[in-house]
Amino acid sequence: MRTYTKNNPLLMIPGPVEGHYEVLESMNKRVFSHTEPKFVKAFQGALQNLKPIFRASDNYHSVVIAGGGTLAMEIAMLNLIDKDISQKALICQSGYFGKRYATLAQSLGLEYDVLESTVGEKIRTDLLQEKLESTSYDFVFIQHVDTSTGVANDVKSFGKVCSDQGVISVVDGVCALGGQEMYQEKWGIDIYLTGAQKALAIPPGLAILMYSPKAREISENRSQKIPSYYSDLENWWPILDAYSQGTVKYFSTPATNLIYGLFKATDQILMEGMENVFSRHRRLSTKFRNAMQDFGFGFITAEDSRAATMSALTYHPDIGGAKFRSAMMEEGVQVAGGIQAGIAETYFRVGHMGNVGEREINYTLKAVENSIERY
Ligand code: PMP
Repeated sequence: MRTYTKNNPLLMIPGPVEGHYEVLESMNKRVFSHTEPKFVKAFQGALQNLKPIFRASDNYHSVVIAGGGTLAMEIAMLNLIDKDISQKALICQSGYFGKRYATLAQSLGLEYDVLESTVGEKIRTDLLQEKLESTSYDFVFIQHVDTSTGVANDVKSFGKVCSDQGVISVVDGVCALGGQEMYQEKWGIDIYLTGAQKALAIPPGLAILMYSPKAREISENRSQKIPSYYSDLENWWPILDAYSQGTVKYFSTPATNLIYGLFKATDQILMEGMENVFSRHRRLSTKFRNAMQDFGFGFITAEDSRAATMSALTYHPDIGGAKFRSAMMEEGVQVAGGIQAGIAETYFRVGHMGNVGEREINYTLKAVENSIERY
């Protein structure tokens, strides 16, 4: 068992998170070639394992491409855009990462409106419904959990409202998939995306998406080529189809070692069982937050909007800001500062996702107690 110190801290930030030693070992034996049969099997297994994790059936399409969560966001948006037809998106914003989708739309030249929630609160479904009834949108983008505010949006209602209105729904689940309850197919979500480094608990470097059959069809039937080479799914579908069938095709070298990690990590998640994964995250987040409240911490997230994967807490009255975070580092636990414009200095963020168990929560709570006692 690792000893946590200032220079080797327990990562309790909302990503990247701690990796399981078996996952890290599976990646680090040697460099794997992208054509060797063992790797082809691992890639095939990873693409297959993702489907039950996204709660999607076999006719959905897994996408795994080297890059960050932002690449996954860009791929999702870019491959919906068709410059030959007039299109409009609605971008839901419940924090910093919602704003990123607006920035992306600006740089990709997609017309959009914004539906913004009050800071710390989730997007209201009734307001979303009103927007979709009053204006004709082609796509709606939302964060499942916005990592800046710790808000978990009601993605179940979101999916229903969008599919009832015939609008394509895109969910950024970078801080959610593998921790926050989610059933992509049942909830009618067309594209759900994530990165490697959050609740899947793999080192950073993979953009991961799940496409519904309808979303894939749209990506394959644009009237104009999109102005990107690497992010154009037309270049990737033949590769992903080949690996899904246990054969090799080349477009750009896959991140072989990370994909080994993905295979192992997704195996572990499926072994635990999705319902168990969801209930562990729910139970530990409640335990953590109750204990933090008892210590005297507050929350920037409304009670009905708090995520299972992370918490956004206001500082203790006795010890604030960088002082608290460096006291935590002295105790061997890294937590993250706030990033939401206007209130960043008033709060900090703790990730409790991926492999986090009782031990990590207890260790963190002890570090919090010691940090308060220092002052
Ligand atoms: N969306 C959300 C909700 C995130 O938390 C993050 C990363 N913190 C991203 C997108 C971007 O991911 P990356 O940093 O891997 O590009």
